[in-house]
Amino acid sequence: MTSDRGRTALERLRKIKPFIQGSLSITQKKCGNPHCRCSQEGPLHEVALLTWKEENRTRTLYVSMELRQEVEKWVQEGKLLKRLVAEVSQAQREFLTSKKKRRKSNKS
Ligand SMILES: [Zn+2]
Repeated sequence: MTSDRGRTALERLRKIKPFIQGSLSITQKKCGNPHCRCSQEGPLHEVALLTWKEENRTRTLYVSMELRQEVEKWVQEGKLLKRLVAEVSQAQREFLTSKKKRRKSNKS
């Protein structure tokens, strides 16, 4: 029970790929190895930093540069999923509103 708008969003939802909630930024970090160059003069290692909210706390997770592009895809998919959830909800609200109108017009 949905509208064309809802059906379109649901079809895209069925094709959803692995996703993750959060955002990704690039930062620099020491690797923790005391014998590595980064512990003395540098340069530091480039890593991606995934941040997300969990129970009102900002959590972070380091992501290696090899995985950065892959994780970026998950982040994009996560944003798309959020949009699609909002889209289907809106479509269902419109569906309910249109039913109400139709019932009213039938009475009169
Ligand atoms: Zn290092």
